[in-house]
Amino acid sequence: MNHKGILVVVSGFSGAGKGTVMKALLNQYDNYALSVSVTTRQPRPGEEDGREYFFRTREEFERLIEEDALIEYAQYVGNYYGTPRSYVEQKLAEGKDVILEIEIQGAMKVKEKIPEALLVFVTPPSIEELKHRLVGRGTETPEVIASRLSRAGEEAEGMEAYEYLLINDDLDTCVRELHQIIQSEHSRSSRNPEFIDRLKAESGTFLKK
Ligand code: ADP
Ligand code: 5GP
Repeated sequence: MNHKGILVVVSGFSGAGKGTVMKALLNQYDNYALSVSVTTRQPRPGEEDGREYFFRTREEFERLIEEDALIEYAQYVGNYYGTPRSYVEQKLAEGKDVILEIEIQGAMKVKEKIPEALLVFVTPPSIEELKHRLVGRGTETPEVIASRLSRAGEEAEGMEAYEYLLINDDLDTCVRELHQIIQSEHSRSSRNPEFIDRLKAESGTFLKK
């Protein structure tokens, strides 16, 4: 079978629980690597440079763009966010399934550049629950929450572009489902052309002449 990792792009409304689901996935299963993005937004209380994000100035971020050091980048509610290229390429080559937790414009750019990427969209069971989670998280001002909810309205328009929808109602169920989705992808015939060729060649020797 193919030993190269799968690039998994996870998007979803702010407050849907992506960060929570990713953390649990990485704690519960081996073989996943989570890409740490670069951003120009301010760290939230408890966030550390190099762990949740690499926190950089706009000038530093623009330099990374010029150097082509990012696989993709986008602006989201007034800040830049981008995916560093080197870590992702290295982990995929090691056979890890690499997860990018990025917003929808970035996800579309990745799909364009890397068509074999697997796109998953995480939603809460309802928008009422989304509001509840965003407010409950307590990390943003009411104004920022309002702009994130309005952005959710735009993002909902793009949900069909994702291969899978993942409803984050019960957390454990959601994490298990995401793991199953990714693992099933490894068995997709189109991801295993070398294996198919080898078995064809081996079985060909038994063909009746
Ligand atoms: P995102 O990364 O998508 O913006 P977070 O992971 O920060 O979202 O989650 C937003 C809030 O919702 C957090 O307070 C988190 O604890 C809570 N949350 C996440 N998943 C669930 C769930 N399955 N059930 C209830 N609350 C959840
Ligand atoms: P937050 O500020 O809540 O951490 O993230 C805001 C949004 O930016 C989320 O939808 C998150 O998935 C997205 N995001 C985080 N990193 C990246 C990235 O590297 N690229 C893109 N395009 N979006 C990102």
